[in-house]
Amino acid sequence: MTTLATTPDLDAATVVDRLRTTFATRRTAATDWRRGQLTALRTLLTDHRDELLAALATDLGKGPAEGYRTEIGFTLNEIDHTLDHLDAWLAPRPAELPERLLPATAHTVREPLGVVLVIAPWNYPLQLALSPLVGALAAGNCAVVKPSELAPATSAALARLLPRYLDAEAVAVVEGAVPETTALLAQRFDHIFYTGNGAVGRIVMAAAARHLTPVTLELGGKSPVVLDPGVDLATTARRLVAGKFLNAGQTCVAPDYVLAVGDTAKDIEQHLAEAVREVYGADPATAPEYGRIVNERHFDRLTALLDGGRTVIGGTHHRADRYLAPTVLADVSPDAPVMQQEIFGPILPIVAVPDLDAAIAFINERDKPLALYAFTDSDETKHRLLTETSSGGLAFGLPVAHLTAPGLPFGGVGESGMGRYHGEYSMETFSHTKAVLDKPLG
Ligand code: NAD
Repeated sequence: MTTLATTPDLDAATVVDRLRTTFATRRTAATDWRRGQLTALRTLLTDHRDELLAALATDLGKGPAEGYRTEIGFTLNEIDHTLDHLDAWLAPRPAELPERLLPATAHTVREPLGVVLVIAPWNYPLQLALSPLVGALAAGNCAVVKPSELAPATSAALARLLPRYLDAEAVAVVEGAVPETTALLAQRFDHIFYTGNGAVGRIVMAAAARHLTPVTLELGGKSPVVLDPGVDLATTARRLVAGKFLNAGQTCVAPDYVLAVGDTAKDIEQHLAEAVREVYGADPATAPEYGRIVNERHFDRLTALLDGGRTVIGGTHHRADRYLAPTVLADVSPDAPVMQQEIFGPILPIVAVPDLDAAIAFINERDKPLALYAFTDSDETKHRLLTETSSGGLAFGLPVAHLTAPGLPFGGVGESGMGRYHGEYSMETFSHTKAVLDKPLG
C-alpha cells in the first residue's frame, strides 16, 4: 500500500517514477501480463467478496445484493467481457490505402499509453475505481488508482488488496483527499481518467493541460425522464423507482426528475408511491437493501431540497443514520432549488409540461445530461428525442441499465463529461491507435 500522508509531493513523484520504470521494461505490454492481471483482479473480487461487501455497507449502507450486483458483479462482467475479446481488440487492423500508395500495405495497432491515473468517486467506490482499471490494464498500462476518501472503508480495502493480487510494481493505490490528489495531479501522466463532479473535473483538466495529458471526465448532472401520455404507468413507475432509489439515489445516471407530459404528472403519482411501497415496504428505513446518504453534508443538502414540492411519498429522514426515505415530490416548479442542482439522492421531482415540444425545449435549455430517459409508446417521440436533444446516453423504457452493457460506450457530453469507456471503448481510451504504413523498397 502506498500512502502519501507525510510528504505528498515527494511521494507522488516517487510512485509515478516507479511505475514508469516498470513500464519501460515493456512487460506490461505483453498480452499474457494483461490477461494475468485481469485474472488476478477477478480472483481478488471473488476471494474477498464478503470483505468488500462489508466495506460498501460501512461506507454507504449498501445491501449485499445491491453491492454485489452494482459493484463486484459489474466489475466481474467487465473483466470477463474484456478477457473474451482481448485478442480481437489487440489484433492489428488492416487499413485501406489510396491507389497512389500501392503496393504499400497499412494497418493500425493499439499500443499502451504508459502510466495512467484513475481518480474515483465515493458513490460506487469499487466499481468506479476498478472498471476503469480493467481498461487500463487490458491496454497494457501501469496505473495509479486514487479511491475516494469519502468511502474510506472501500478505499482502505482497495489499498490493502490490490497490491497483493496485482503486479505491485505496475499498479499503485494512493489513498487520500485533496492534498494527495493535488500532488498526484502535479505529476506527468499519459492519461487521466476522472469520475466525479464538474468543478473538480475542471481542476483535473487544468492540471492535465500542463503536461498535455489527455483526460476522460466522467461527470454528472441532471438526467431527465420524459413521460409520454398513454404508457403503462405501473411498469413505468416500477422501473423508475428501481433506477432512482438504487444506492439511495446516489447514482450518476439516476433519473433526476420526471418531465411529465400532459396529464401524466397527476396520473403517475400514485403509481410511484405504490412502487416505492412494493420495493421497500411500508418503512424503507428497515429495508435491508435501501442505502444511506454518504455523509452529513450531503444529507443536509438533500433535506434542504424537500420543500420543493408536494410530498407524494417519503420525506422522512433521520440524521443520526443518514437515512432519507425514497421521496417523490409533485407540482415542482422549474425554479425550485431541487431543480437547480443535480439531486444525487432519493428525491424524485415531477415537473409538468404541456407537450413534447415543451419537454424538448426544457431539456435543451439546460446542460447536456449524462443520460436522457423516456417512457413512450410513440416512435415519433423516440425519433424526436433522439434527433432533437443531446445526452451522454439515451434509453427508452428502462433507466440506468444502458451502463451495464459493455458493448455500449459510457460517457457524457458537454457538462456531463468527455470521453467514454466500458468494453472496447475502454481499450480505445487507454490505448494509442498507431498508424502503420509499409511500402516495399523494390
Ligand atoms: P468525490 O467527492 O469522491 O470526488 C471525486 C474524486 O475527486 C475523489 O477521488 C476526490 O478525492 C477527488 N477530489 C475532490 N476534490 C478535489 C480537488 N479539489 N482536487 C483534486 N481532486 C479532488 O465525488 P463527487 O465529485 O462528489 O462525485 C459525485 C459526482 O460524480 C456527481 O456529480 C456524479 O454524477 C458524478 N459521477 C459521475 C459518474 C460517471 O460515470 N459519469 C459516476 C459517478 C459519479
